[in-house]
Amino acid sequence: MADTPGTNSTPPAWLTDGFDHIWLPYTQMQDAPLPAPIASTQGCKLIMEDGRELIDGVASWWTAAHGYNHPHIREAVTKQLETLPHVMLGGLAHEQAYTLASRLAKMAPGDLSRVFFSESGSVSVEIAMKMAVQYWINKGAVGRSQFVSFTGGYHGDTFATMSVCDPEEGMHSLFAGLLAQQIITDLPIDTATQAAFDDLLASRTDDIAAVVMEPLVQGAGGMIMHAPETLDFIRAACDRHGVLLILDEIFTGFGRTGTLFACEQADIVPDIMTLSKALTGGTLPLAATLARTHVFDAFLSDSAETALMHGPTYMGNAMGCAAANAALDLFEQDPPGPRVARIAQQLAEELEPARKLPGVRDVRVKGAIGVIELEPHGDNDWMKAEFIARGVWNRPFNNIVYTTPPLVISPSDLSHITTAMVEVVRDWGIKKNEEG
Ligand SMILES: *Cc1c(COP(=O)(O)O)cnc(C)c1O
Repeated sequence: MADTPGTNSTPPAWLTDGFDHIWLPYTQMQDAPLPAPIASTQGCKLIMEDGRELIDGVASWWTAAHGYNHPHIREAVTKQLETLPHVMLGGLAHEQAYTLASRLAKMAPGDLSRVFFSESGSVSVEIAMKMAVQYWINKGAVGRSQFVSFTGGYHGDTFATMSVCDPEEGMHSLFAGLLAQQIITDLPIDTATQAAFDDLLASRTDDIAAVVMEPLVQGAGGMIMHAPETLDFIRAACDRHGVLLILDEIFTGFGRTGTLFACEQADIVPDIMTLSKALTGGTLPLAATLARTHVFDAFLSDSAETALMHGPTYMGNAMGCAAANAALDLFEQDPPGPRVARIAQQLAEELEPARKLPGVRDVRVKGAIGVIELEPHGDNDWMKAEFIARGVWNRPFNNIVYTTPPLVISPSDLSHITTAMVEVVRDWGIKKNEEG
């Protein structure tokens, strides 16, 4: 068995034994390198089995906003485990879920005041889509079941959410024939695309349930950024044509773009909003779908038929909600805005030198998201090992090398990450040149 990539150390037995049985995400298993074995986490660091430390440049898929093992979250989850780890939300109530619903309703923009819990981001988007379709059914509007989404978008890996992902970038092109046909169009970022978007909503109003999009930054589809004005335009167009707007803030929510929610930068309120990733500070799986009053009211009647028929077994899990309540305490005690502004400035300064390197197409920053976009290549496994050798955990995808560090990262740890990014991209350019 090979060494752990980026190190000379022998991998532990649990890894080599389990590697014959585990099936990894987004991975060609035939030639998959061994993943880095992590023994523990602390602050912004992952501690490997051989004792080496990696600064986490990804915050575990954008979840660990407050760093790992935060004592406040740990205490809340430990206490919850000892008193009430989980009870079903159908027919029973517990304080953590109800308190979290009230707090999210208060924090969210406008009258996004009803909270439906689930356990993963994809499911929360499925619920948002179901809400939008049933909203129109309950209002007696027949046939409004289509969704408009955008090229570059990513909303999850389940069948309904795959149908609103970018058909090529969204990792799901194999399933194209099996997915519901949605309307996937370009983001309306200039006069031509704005006119096309407006025409689309005007001509297809009777088919369309909702527009679904990631506000300000399309994450997994390529870290593609747009201006708040684009959100203003989309909100106004949806209002003009009577179409619902779903904002998927699973990536952007909880400070990542500089405001608690990205849509605050445009001062708009979606009809439905989805949250997950940083909701529990990266400790437990939990997601939420928030609806505005007028959406919720469309489900009220004397008939059971207009009720929302959804109920994940683990919805409102008490430990997850306790973690989320503790994570919200941290955001309230220390709002992320100033810290994210400092991170953004440092990212912009320290990634800028990459712009002149061979093979680099673009360098861009929004909030605590720093991106170096490269020419297309197939060297991501090589890059991951190079990052580990430099004491950094990073996970480039497609032609994107990026960092989304914990929002509590120190300037020196962040410099360590950005230095590694620029060096790895530089060395990749040299390697590419030598290989011809
Ligand atoms: C990660 C993500 C999802 C899917 O969440 P899972 O918890 O992986 O199902 C959906 N939308 C966006 C914007 C995401 O970043």
